[in-house]
Amino acid sequence: MRKPFVAGNWKMNKTVAESRHLVSELVPGLQAIDGVDKVLCPPFTSLLAVAALLEGTDIGLGAQNIHWETAGAFTGEISPPMVAEYCQYVILGHSERRAYFGETDETVNRKIKAALAHDLTPILCVGETLEENEAERTKEVISRQVREDLYGLEGMIEPGNESPLVIAYEPIWAIGTGMAATADGAAAVVSDVIRPTLSDLFGEAFAQTVRVLYGGSVKGGNAAEFFSQPEIDGGLIGGASLKVADFIEIVQAAS
Ligand code: PEP
Repeated sequence: MRKPFVAGNWKMNKTVAESRHLVSELVPGLQAIDGVDKVLCPPFTSLLAVAALLEGTDIGLGAQNIHWETAGAFTGEISPPMVAEYCQYVILGHSERRAYFGETDETVNRKIKAALAHDLTPILCVGETLEENEAERTKEVISRQVREDLYGLEGMIEPGNESPLVIAYEPIWAIGTGMAATADGAAAVVSDVIRPTLSDLFGEAFAQTVRVLYGGSVKGGNAAEFFSQPEIDGGLIGGASLKVADFIEIVQAAS
């Protein structure tokens, strides 16, 4: 049995004061829900403040990116050990970073290795564009991303052990558009592409332990439909993670 997992990706939203306010409103509702791993991913500037507010709760903290190097002349970047001071998780390979900041499967792969080396659980995002989807290239694109992003991890992942990895299937055309995938369609990508690729790389026992989430226009009203699919282990939530009632409803649906 894979434990359900829901993470809120706040993207580039909320000052420190706004983050404190949102967390103070979220915590009582989230704390009342058992049986789900709950994670908040605010911007870097709010990590310290949010970490302090989450102390003593069962709510995890994640960053939205890291550099792959430990330290050095990389102006404006944040290293894995800096993030690991506060966080247990890090979102990597989000389509917005691939589209606007030049991230490639190669750089995502370096970041995944760096995260694992610093005991950060990566939440790896994969997903196809609308054009790729319409050209029926989803399988090829997702399988390539999983293979290349997880290339060379054999030594870092013990087959058969519990997974130190979460994957989010996020069709790019569904992110922030209000046009969610169908639950059946998303589950089919997980069962026909993501898990078989993981099985090929690391063995079936390991593939069965990896939590695979769906992300893309999930709201309170449609979350249960996705989470009722046995192949979908939870959600990566963007816009709705900034709305207290919606996010709590989504986490409730996963529990
Ligand atoms: C995301 O940014 O990962 C995401 C899924 O966004 P939204 O929920 O707003 O579509």
